[in-house]
Amino acid sequence: MKEGSASPRPVIFTDLDGTLLDAENYAFDESREALERVKSAAIPLVFCSSKTRAEQEYYRAALDIADPFIVENGSAIFVPRGYFGFDFPFHHIRDHYAVIELGISVENIRNLLREIRGQLQLPLTGFGDMDLPELCRITGLAPEAACRARQREYSETIVPSLSAAEFRRLESRLAGKGLLGVPGSRLYTITGKNADKGRAVQRLGELFRREFGRVITIGVGDSQNDFPMLNAVERPFLVQKPGRRWAPADSPRVRKIAGVGPAGWKIAIAEILAGYTLPNP
Ligand code: MG
Repeated sequence: MKEGSASPRPVIFTDLDGTLLDAENYAFDESREALERVKSAAIPLVFCSSKTRAEQEYYRAALDIADPFIVENGSAIFVPRGYFGFDFPFHHIRDHYAVIELGISVENIRNLLREIRGQLQLPLTGFGDMDLPELCRITGLAPEAACRARQREYSETIVPSLSAAEFRRLESRLAGKGLLGVPGSRLYTITGKNADKGRAVQRLGELFRREFGRVITIGVGDSQNDFPMLNAVERPFLVQKPGRRWAPADSPRVRKIAGVGPAGWKIAIAEILAGYTLPNP
């Protein structure tokens, strides 16, 4: 416990694609140095993304990050066992994590989608229905990365080619079955209706508060689907998308950073770290 330090302890929640990682090639060269500064300042860095546990574990290992992380659009929080110095409620132990679930299992989602597909007679092909070459073609991912992306635990992504009217029918069926659809630029991801990046950030923020006492929560994202996370933190940062434009931010609290993806991430981190000194151990 590091309670009682003079200034609040920062906890950074970050999106991955197009924020910490380059939007096109998933590289992190540009954010690497800032990331090392975050680590040496002992500031927790929590990944909060639509990515799966397998995908996030890949980047946790590559970047040597050992903090909790939030997967599949706020569907679940994975806390390494023994990370916090106190007991807290969780749903499952999976491998070496205590898992707090907000969403529902992918098996449930796929069963419900099968029913909806039968009722609506719509072409709803999910990642779970595709073979690896097809998935690589649709996502543009290399086979190993596509394997990690398909290891869904709490969501299913479909590749919709639907009219606006068909979409409305789909959305009302999803809602009726306790599901939530989140549109991306090309893909459409379906989770349990309570999966929410913002609620996951709040739940985890409470645990950090218990651990550290005074905490200031920070969020960095690039897209519309990061706004629930940005709305849930005390200091929200929005980096630019390729083309040097910002996703339309609905809140004046959001600090817009003039830098695309990892270049913006680096600037945001410099602002966060300015004037911050390490708490006494
Ligand atoms: Mg993103």
